[in-house]
Amino acid sequence: MAYDFDLFVIGGGSGGVRCARIAATLGARVAVAEERFWGGTCVNVGCVPKKLMVMAAEYGNAVPDSHGFGWSTQPGTHDWQALITHKNAEISRLNGIYVKLLDGVGVTHFDARAVFVDAHTLDVGGQRVTAERIVIATGGRPSAPSFEGGAHCIISDDAFFLPEMPKRVALLGGGYIAVEFAGIFAGLGAEVDLIMRQDLPLRGFDEDLRVGLMEALREGGVRVHGGAPVSRVTLEGDTRIVHLPDGTQVRADLVFAAIGRTAHTEGLGLDRAGVATGQGGAVLVQEGSVTNVPHIYAIGDVTDRLNLTPVAIAEGHSLAEALYGHGPRVWHLDRVATAVFSIPPMATVGPTEAEVAVRAATEGPFDVYVSRFTPMRHTMSGRARKTVMKLIVHQASQKVVAAHMLGEDAPEIIQGLSIAINAGATKADFDRTVGVHPTAAEEFVTMRTRTRVVT
Ligand code: FAD
Ligand code: NDP
Repeated sequence: MAYDFDLFVIGGGSGGVRCARIAATLGARVAVAEERFWGGTCVNVGCVPKKLMVMAAEYGNAVPDSHGFGWSTQPGTHDWQALITHKNAEISRLNGIYVKLLDGVGVTHFDARAVFVDAHTLDVGGQRVTAERIVIATGGRPSAPSFEGGAHCIISDDAFFLPEMPKRVALLGGGYIAVEFAGIFAGLGAEVDLIMRQDLPLRGFDEDLRVGLMEALREGGVRVHGGAPVSRVTLEGDTRIVHLPDGTQVRADLVFAAIGRTAHTEGLGLDRAGVATGQGGAVLVQEGSVTNVPHIYAIGDVTDRLNLTPVAIAEGHSLAEALYGHGPRVWHLDRVATAVFSIPPMATVGPTEAEVAVRAATEGPFDVYVSRFTPMRHTMSGRARKTVMKLIVHQASQKVVAAHMLGEDAPEIIQGLSIAINAGATKADFDRTVGVHPTAAEEFVTMRTRTRVVT
């Protein structure tokens, strides 16, 4: 049967656009549909605008920090509207680039919602389109709060378009988004309460860093409430009241629920195509991004595994090359570095100490090196902020299996170290590397004394 396209990609986000572009470059007849915004979550309501807003907050923090260096600068007023307007202009520029990239390689693009009619046919904004192969790249959506008064909360999609800067913000959740926005709103001058059901933020990250981040958040003026699942949110005039189990009531102008994301598969007609889903509607895939239907694939957040932009891109690229090239390009998806753009940021590659403690039973002991110090800038800024760095080394092979860091520039530093770790560098390789002085990063090549052994 002749199909309209060789490949149809549903979703014009990070993963979908990369997959479509590479497949078209390799000679396939490709189409992609996007129902909301080209570039997807990352460009429009994720990584990019978030990082621009973190930068805005950092300027606010720099004013008091400069006094120890002789400046007499006083905090000015922050213009929220100006920040949002400039951010929106940059995002529009990026949206245009995404469309141009698709045009440039001859991808047909539809500004429309696509849903399955059957396993080879889609309804694309009312038009029937057939394809030999279909890629589901529909991403995820913020999970809606289910507790009483959830309707009084905003979700991350809203946070990028608030009409004005709130004076008091209550953030619910202790994950990436909650801690990143705690830093953003605190840096821009709001009173911030971070309300988490765990005792420490960022479950799943290394404990030494989680403790360090908790201290840093408090030092940055954030009121952190640990072990506090929210029971309900009520309204009193314009004020929202978050009720905690111990009877504490947190009053805020804005309550921001950052309690995870859900795969975006609702109403997609997956049942009509016979595609199987798992927990929370995430599409189930096997090696090579293939679903249970051999010509239908899924990449990125819709599979709800490692929900990060570079992972969605790697999966999209690899799939296109596997289908239309000379075999897939291989990424190390088991050792993916990740960063949390909190203030200060955290970044990590490889397992946590708790994870190697489990592995030690079969793989033998691991050496742990920890360094905790006041970074040079804060010896004079007067800010009581610590940097935490950690290396984990497999004792028998001497391979460095993990590097963790909390502190300024952590994402930039860990990006470099992740190459070394993915290349199999040993502790001796780190030790014989001459440092760059004076930097915080040099600490990673000068950690000589083992802190403890995990057996
Ligand atoms: P998406 O980018 O979500 O793209 C899916 C697209 O499909 C969307 O544009 C959607 O409109 C479209 N779509 C859905 N259904 C249909 C349909 N039926 N028809 C047509 N189109 C459809 N990751 C990082 O690596 N670093 C960060 O700093 C970072 N920060 C983040 C901050 C926030 C606030 C959030 C929410 C996420 C962040 N992420 C970050 C995660 C990152 O944004 C995602 O992992 C990434 O965007 C996933 O890409 P994707 O292609 O799978 O999905
Ligand atoms: P996360 O999965 O990171 O964190 C969710 C948080 O919400 C956890 O602290 C969780 O607590 C808490 N939670 C879940 N359900 C409830 C509930 N019912 N009541 C109270 N708390 C609850 O999700 P985010 O929304 O922060 O971010 C979504 C994903 O987007 C991230 O996992 C990441 O993959 C991606 N992202 C990446 C970023 C980056 O790379 N810098 C930045 C932002 C997002 P508990 O730990 O107890 O489960």
